[in-house]
Amino acid sequence: MDNITTSQASTQGLRETQEIPNIEVPDDDLEGVWGRLFSVRENVSVCNLVKPTYTFGRGRADYRFSEENFDYKILPAISKLHFRISREWQDDLDPVVVIEDLSCNGTFINNINLGKGKKKLLINNDEVALASPNTKVFVFHNCFQNDSNDYPLEVTEKYTMTKKLGQGNFGEVRLAYRQGTLERCAVKILQKRGSKLKLNNVQQISNEIELLRSVDHPFIIRLMDVMDTPEKIYIVMEAAGGGELFDRLVDNGRLPEATAKFYFYQLALAIQYLHSKKITHRDIKPENILLATDEENTSIKLTDFGLSKLAADTSQMNTFCGTISYIAPELLDTETLSYTKKVDLWSLGVVLFVSLCCYAPFDAEDMKVRYLIRNAIYSFHGKVWKEVSDEAKDLISKLMVSEPTKRLDVEETLKHPWLQDEDLHKKVLDILDEDPLSPSKKRRLEENGVENRDLVNAKTPKIQVGITEKM
Ligand code: ADP
Ligand code: MG
Repeated sequence: MDNITTSQASTQGLRETQEIPNIEVPDDDLEGVWGRLFSVRENVSVCNLVKPTYTFGRGRADYRFSEENFDYKILPAISKLHFRISREWQDDLDPVVVIEDLSCNGTFINNINLGKGKKKLLINNDEVALASPNTKVFVFHNCFQNDSNDYPLEVTEKYTMTKKLGQGNFGEVRLAYRQGTLERCAVKILQKRGSKLKLNNVQQISNEIELLRSVDHPFIIRLMDVMDTPEKIYIVMEAAGGGELFDRLVDNGRLPEATAKFYFYQLALAIQYLHSKKITHRDIKPENILLATDEENTSIKLTDFGLSKLAADTSQMNTFCGTISYIAPELLDTETLSYTKKVDLWSLGVVLFVSLCCYAPFDAEDMKVRYLIRNAIYSFHGKVWKEVSDEAKDLISKLMVSEPTKRLDVEETLKHPWLQDEDLHKKVLDILDEDPLSPSKKRRLEENGVENRDLVNAKTPKIQVGITEKM
C-alpha cells in the first residue's frame, strides 16, 4: 500500500499530525539519550533516542515523516512504517542497537539495502537512507560507543564528530555537528607529526589559516573554526552535502555541456575572487570541487586551497595527488619556484576538458606525460568532442596553453563568448537565492544593502561586490 498518491499522502500526514505528539527531545537536555540520529538533510531534524524502541515512517510512527521533510517525489516512496530502531540487551553483554527494515522500497545502511524484515546492528557513523541509496537521511551516533576518546576534549566540547567524508592529501575529513545548534560542518584533521605537511613551521601555518579566515565567497568552502592541539590541528569548515565533482563524473560520466558550463562559471567566479585577494589555489581538480547538494542544479564549493602551499615541494605534491594531470607546465619544474596565478587558469582548462569528455587530456601512465604537459599536447579527437560546442573547445584551447603569459587570465576567461549566456547568469543568481549553506552570507548581503543580483553582471562580472571581508 505504499504506492499511494501524493495528495493521499499529504492528507494522511495532516490528519496524523494532530494525533501523534512529536517525540523529539530538546537538544539542550540530553539526559537519558542513548543514541542520536543526526540529519544529513535540510528539513529533517535530529532525533534523540531515549526510549528502547522507535519506529520511523510516513504513517503512525514515533518519528513521522511528512511533506515538511520530503518533497512530493520522495514522500510517497516512504512506507508508513519504514524502519525500527531498538536498543536490545543480550545476556550480560553491553546493549546493542538494532535497525530493522519494515519498508517496501528499502532501508539502506551505508548504501546497502537491508531488505524488508531484515535486521542489522547499527554502529557509530552508519548512514541511513530511505527508499533509495541516494535519499540519505540520518547518520547514527551511539552515545555509549565511545570513540569520542579519539578526539580531545577541546573538540568534543564543541562538536560531535561522525562519519568520514573524505580523504585528502593531508588528512581525513569528517562530518561533525556543532553542539547546541547542530550546525553541520566538515572537520579536516591534520596530524602534526610524521605528516607530509611542513607543520614544524607553526608561524607559516597560522599565517595560512589567517588567510583562509579572510576568504568569504558563496562558491568557496568557508572556514569556521580552528582547534590546535598538541597532536593534531582540527580545521572546521562548512560542509558540502553533494560530495566531490570527481565522484559525480565517475558515477554519471561526462556532464551535459550546460551543466559543465554552470559549474565552470561558478569556479571561475571563485577563482576571480581568490586572485583579487592575491591568493593562488594551486590545486584545482575535481576532487577539490565539492557540490552543495546531491542535485545537478547546485552550487559548487571549492575547497582545499592555501594548505597545498604547505606541501614541501611540487614534486611531493604530485606524488600525493597520484595524478599530475591538472598541474600547470611551469609547476612541473621543481627547480623553478616562481610561478604566477596563471597556474590556476591551466587547471581550470583541464577541469573543463575533463567535465566535458570524462577522460584526462594527458594520460598519467604515459612515460611522456611531462613532455605532453609542457608542450600542451592534447586533442579534441573522438566522438564526444563532436557534440561539444566550438566555443567551449576554444576556451579550453586558450586556457591550456603552455606559456603562462599567453594563457587567458580569469577576467578574460569570464569575458569569453562561451560564458556570455543570460540563462547561465540567471541560473547562478537562482542558485545563490536557494543556497542552503549560506543563510548567514545572504543575511550579510542584505544587511549591506547588496542584492545577490550584483554578484553577476553579464558583461563584466564583478564578484567582489557584496562580499564582506572578515578582518
Ligand atoms: P586535503 O587538503 O587533505 O586534500 P581536502 O580539503 O581536499 O583535503 O579534503 C579531502 C576530501 O574530503 C575532499 O576531497 C572531500 O571528499 C572531503 N571534504 C573536504 N572538505 C569537505 C567539506 N567541506 N564538505 C564535504 N566534504 C569535504
Ligand atoms: Mg584535496
